[in-house]
Amino acid sequence: MQCLEHPVEKLRSVLLSTRKDLIEAYEEYSREEKRFLEEGLLPVSPLFTAITIHSDSDWISAHPEDPQDFQSFYTNPYRSTPDSGHKTIYIQTIGSFGDGAGITEQYVEWLREYCEAFYYGLMVKLLPTVTVAATNCAFRVNSNTNNLQLHAGDLLEFLKKRKPKDAFCIVGITMIDLYPKDSWNFVFGQASLTEGMGVFSFARYDNDFYKRSYAGRLKKAIKLKPGDYSVFQSYYTPPISSTLLLRSCKTLTHEIGHIFGVKHCQWLQCVMQGSNHLDESDRRPPDLCPICLRKLQCAIGFRIADRYKALLQWIENAAESSEHQSGKPTQAFQYFRQWLCKCLCKLADDTL
Ligand SMILES: [Zn+2]
Ligand SMILES: [Zn+2]
Repeated sequence: MQCLEHPVEKLRSVLLSTRKDLIEAYEEYSREEKRFLEEGLLPVSPLFTAITIHSDSDWISAHPEDPQDFQSFYTNPYRSTPDSGHKTIYIQTIGSFGDGAGITEQYVEWLREYCEAFYYGLMVKLLPTVTVAATNCAFRVNSNTNNLQLHAGDLLEFLKKRKPKDAFCIVGITMIDLYPKDSWNFVFGQASLTEGMGVFSFARYDNDFYKRSYAGRLKKAIKLKPGDYSVFQSYYTPPISSTLLLRSCKTLTHEIGHIFGVKHCQWLQCVMQGSNHLDESDRRPPDLCPICLRKLQCAIGFRIADRYKALLQWIENAAESSEHQSGKPTQAFQYFRQWLCKCLCKLADDTL
């Protein structure tokens, strides 16, 4: 295992930048916020730690990219910033989630609320769920894994037509696996950053996906007819678990982060780290490092503590949803909850 440690002076200039106006803008953070962000860069920080590389198949080894500091994010002419007429994130659910009636609505509502806390200050709205048939997309059976897959590009075409005028972006989510073109095995998601849209599948976040016994594998070689979507009517969707919810929240916020123009993080452990496989995405923390946090804060303009409080509230409100058929499964978020409490303590502590 290799530890990707950057000298603290380097991280400081990555966070503050070298441009006078951006350093001045940084000075507008409160004293507590500045101390919080800068202490996070120290090697001894209990809140933010160095990225670890575990194998050659990890993202950074497999996909060398230029790292993005705050300044290069800020000066990127292609990044998108919400404005007063475009400050809503729309989520379009495609097909069903969970293994019972009514679960899809509940699950995507949890995701919606999570995104609204994560992108604090923006509205997140759900568009009415659509069936696979309604998207008119091409589909196939994957010849290796025998599961059904949807054509990601066709889904983007569908989303383009559905994108409301006041949308900052529209993201499609589905529990059915995706493929980008015939020659590819699969894709986790596909996005058009300039058009502010993306589509992502959580199918491979089911613990059983790669098992022989995976219930989404079609038993016999059936002949699919283009345009005949009846095969999706009784198609398997995995049961909702706390781990699936955590993975879905992380993926969705990571992908929407790209729509803001935030690139893969190579500075500290961060939800914006690239990920090549499930182990690696599970290692990623659910939230942003100080550098990516400044990028998002500059695009939206929240107080850091308000955003952390909203995320904490999302986890702690789990008990309230017990009136529904199933309560929000937040067991997998408990470490994150403790982390948020520590961050809020730090931000409130002005005795130093
Ligand atoms: Zn990414
Ligand atoms: Zn980061």
